[in-house]
Amino acid sequence: SEFKAFSLLESIIDRVNLKGYKQPTPIQKECIPALINGNDLLGIAQTGTGKTAAFSLPIINNFGRNKIAIKAKSTRSLILTPTRELASQIMQNIDYYSDGLGLKTKVVYGGVGRQNQVDSIALGLDILVATPGRLLDLIETGDINFKALEVFVLDEADTMLDMGFFKDVQNIISKLPKKRQTLLFSATMPAEIEILAEAILTDPTKIQI
Ligand code: AMP
Repeated sequence: SEFKAFSLLESIIDRVNLKGYKQPTPIQKECIPALINGNDLLGIAQTGTGKTAAFSLPIINNFGRNKIAIKAKSTRSLILTPTRELASQIMQNIDYYSDGLGLKTKVVYGGVGRQNQVDSIALGLDILVATPGRLLDLIETGDINFKALEVFVLDEADTMLDMGFFKDVQNIISKLPKKRQTLLFSATMPAEIEILAEAILTDPTKIQI
């Protein structure tokens, strides 16, 4: 498939082929090389464009190539998304694409027990997918820290705003290390998101689909 043109790990290309993707979508074509390269990214795109694979494949690739012992209660990447449905979908996709690479992943959201979430995070994670409320709760109880954070993805930023999560999101961002790779996705760009993007992105690659 055309995914071979990206410098992705062989196992990731195998999984993408197995999933039946014949060629990358436009957002994947532009995002994947920029993200493998470590760039920040502003993606103006909605669900349905293939944005999940666009941000997931480079993260999986970069961590799969550079495995490290992760500190307890810490994560190398955080993907923040507004709803538990989106969080579950993203986690399912990531677990599918990263099969065989031995990455530690977890999804956390509210409305379900927190102990197994705490136990997973305690071991240290490569990839954490989270909704804002439960994540803030886990931060406040000291069950997670961001000392090892390398990559932050803010997914559906405008939906966060619409759902009243913006304060929570800003609070979470204030806990993250300044030196990191940041990706922001939003279907629309209201003024609040423009200002946030300006504040948290450094020389981002911009993609509008
Ligand atoms: P997303 O925008 O990430 O929610 O993806 C929308 C749908 O497109 C999902 O069902 C994906 O599995 C599918 N998809 C993602 N990338 C591709 C691709 N390159 N070719 C075909 N389908 C894809």
